[in-house]
Amino acid sequence: MANKAYQFRLYPTKEQEQLLAKTFGCVRFVYNKMLEERIQMYEKFKDDKEALKKQTFPTPAKYKKEFPWLKEVDSLALANAQLNLQKAFQNFFSGRAGFPKFKNRKAKQSYTTNVVNGNIKLSDGYIKLPKLKWVKFKQHREIPAHHIIKACTITKTKTGKYYISILTEYEHQPVSKEVQTVVGLDFSMNTLYVDSEGKRANYPRFYRQALEKLTREQRVLSRRRKGSNRWHKQRLKVAKLHEKISNQRKDFLHKESHKLAKLYDCVVIEDLNMKGMSQALHFGQSVHDNGWGMFSSFLQYKLEEQGKKLIKIDKWFPSSKTCSCCGQVRESLSLSERTFRCECGFESDRDVNAAINIKHEGMKRLAIA
Ligand SMILES: [Zn+2]
Repeated sequence: MANKAYQFRLYPTKEQEQLLAKTFGCVRFVYNKMLEERIQMYEKFKDDKEALKKQTFPTPAKYKKEFPWLKEVDSLALANAQLNLQKAFQNFFSGRAGFPKFKNRKAKQSYTTNVVNGNIKLSDGYIKLPKLKWVKFKQHREIPAHHIIKACTITKTKTGKYYISILTEYEHQPVSKEVQTVVGLDFSMNTLYVDSEGKRANYPRFYRQALEKLTREQRVLSRRRKGSNRWHKQRLKVAKLHEKISNQRKDFLHKESHKLAKLYDCVVIEDLNMKGMSQALHFGQSVHDNGWGMFSSFLQYKLEEQGKKLIKIDKWFPSSKTCSCCGQVRESLSLSERTFRCECGFESDRDVNAAINIKHEGMKRLAIA
């Protein structure tokens, strides 16, 4: 089984908008409530691990008695809030993320609902959703008939647009392709990646220009008096630019990953811990903004669809410090050294050297597998 998500613009009526706002609020409320209770539980049993294990975690159902208005919204959305919190804790315990945070009003306005007994249906430009009934949407592409809808995530952007992401599942058993061509990618802040052939992915010029514009508009925003009319106006302008940029980035990431998945049978990348990395290197622009995580997930499904492979190698692998010619590992390499030089006489662009090492490491894995 494979998954694929389809995203469409949603056009709710005023009434539906109100219910959506209520649902976003209830999901946030329940999430925060459960988080609060879990924190209290950990505090109470912090010296007694055995007793902690026996505790049952709070569920949304529990709150419905105390807060009856929770019944007015899609109960599946609330159940998913619980799952999201569980996931946040799992990520925390495995070291992939920080401790779960409370969601405030500024947090992403979104909720997920699931298909149960045909509660979600599509018909002629409308989608039927729990509690909301039929909502108008722009279906610019067909969902193939053999795809089964599993879940829907509804999101409101900061500029007030609504989107629905429809997650589907479908039968897919790609024939595993024999690996003949392999490429290694080294993550790069400025250009997304440098590959082992020495090619750089380059963000398009209009994207860079939009980024510059965003910086300027943000500066204007910071000078305006918070809460004033002019501030609100500027804030909307910034939000619109943000949206435009994130769409452009997504587009670019789709194109780049498509290209690579077409050209190569196997792509090797580093499994970067984005959070740790952005903290360690004090990047001005957040690494998240560069979309490496999104890029690797696009790559993964595009390769898998064709029976090809994505190999992620350990983030501790010394890809930059190793000489791709003789294999010697240097003790240190400062970020400012753009050219890699080895005692063996090998000289290369720092990122290309790293990408070649990543490729070699991936090929080693392939031989073992
Ligand atoms: Zn060397």
